[in-house]
Amino acid sequence: MTYVFHRHTKANYPVAVAGDGPYVIDSTGKRYLDASGGAAVSCLGHSNRHVIEAIKAQLDKIPYAHTSFFTNEPTEQLARHLIERAPAGLNKVYFLSGGSEANETAMKVARQYFVEKGEPQRRHFIARNQSYHGNTLGALAVGGNPGRRELFQPLLINTTHIDPCYAYRHQRQDESIEAYSLRAADTLETAILELGPDSVIGFLAETVVGATLGAVPPTPGYFKRIREICDKYGVLLILDEVMSGMGRTGTLYACKQDGIAPDILTCAKGLGAGYQPIGACLVSGAIFDTIEQGSGFFHHGFTYIGHPTACAGALAVQQVIEQEGLLAKVRDKGSALTERLTHAFGQNPYVGDIRGRGYFQGIELVSDRDSKEPFDPALKIFAKIKAKAMEKGLMCYPGGGTVDGKKGDHVLLAPPFILEDSHLDELIEKLSASLSEVLRSEGI
Ligand code: PLP
Repeated sequence: MTYVFHRHTKANYPVAVAGDGPYVIDSTGKRYLDASGGAAVSCLGHSNRHVIEAIKAQLDKIPYAHTSFFTNEPTEQLARHLIERAPAGLNKVYFLSGGSEANETAMKVARQYFVEKGEPQRRHFIARNQSYHGNTLGALAVGGNPGRRELFQPLLINTTHIDPCYAYRHQRQDESIEAYSLRAADTLETAILELGPDSVIGFLAETVVGATLGAVPPTPGYFKRIREICDKYGVLLILDEVMSGMGRTGTLYACKQDGIAPDILTCAKGLGAGYQPIGACLVSGAIFDTIEQGSGFFHHGFTYIGHPTACAGALAVQQVIEQEGLLAKVRDKGSALTERLTHAFGQNPYVGDIRGRGYFQGIELVSDRDSKEPFDPALKIFAKIKAKAMEKGLMCYPGGGTVDGKKGDHVLLAPPFILEDSHLDELIEKLSASLSEVLRSEGI
């Protein structure tokens, strides 16, 4: 009997009692290799002593102090750390407790910026289909996952959705990747013109699309063109790096690989690596200065913003990433993971696409490789793979995302940065076995 309101109300979960590097251990002693970092969170695994000691030390000093009375050392140090490494122009950080809060903050700071700038008629956001920006009602409104939105219609914020940058399904056969990038990005301009350029606040996108599509990176030149279009119409570019940021793709900020800087960037998950709940919203100097020189007050706040213990934990996480050279390791081992995935699944008739960056990779499953037709959603292939993998002691993040309006199946891999070759071998072996056993049991 449990009094916990589990999301899957009938689920009978194992009880996690301990962590050992990239493994989670349950109350029976069974070990699970964490190939998804939970949901792209646990980038340092589950037992990093430096982080645990830093959190304990902060608890001994002062666990919490409300930010309307005080600032605190870990908050200041973490903000400095993030800004010193951030894309050009981002120079202030607002700390929150997670990704949805970070995106709510992004939308509200953007709206207030335009009000204070004397452009209150800017009220619309443009975002993308098949995206996920969080579960709160504002974040859900900009998100583009129909399954998540349906029940809560009508949503709070009017958002226009354009298609994601998704070459596997949308690039035409006779089209170069560069031409596809421009065509995909130009749909933003069309949407801005339809809404009226003076009415749009911002364009919100995941740099690399995570849960809803399964680690789909932008194609070369896509975000450069998006940046140009935003600049042309004075629309803010807001990048959601809640999943893809904080080193997961091999650079601290994923958009560095696209050679652009957003006006606002959100991150969470890997920021605290699960040792503490924390998110962040980085904003440009232009936005901050407008508010500072205007009302001087951001009309937004949560009880736990700038939480000292959360910031101390996140700072320690970021120090470990740097001191142990983990970004280079993610780049290196990420390539090794791609090679292993290609070797194991490249010829599989039910694997349509293998894609990603660094330790953020996805496999898209299809019923037919030529037509790219997804499996019948009633089969719930993704849920069955997850269950089978757990049985074998592997955590992966199968998603039942959407493929052009239909349900699709993918496996998202976002392992801890500390994974070694032997772990990669274990991951591939267990994932291959899970996939083939599930397909066999379905008579596929
Ligand atoms: N944005 C993205 C890209 C995410 O993947 C998620 C969570 O999966 C969120 C926002 C919401 O973050 P949280 O669950 O911490 O509120």
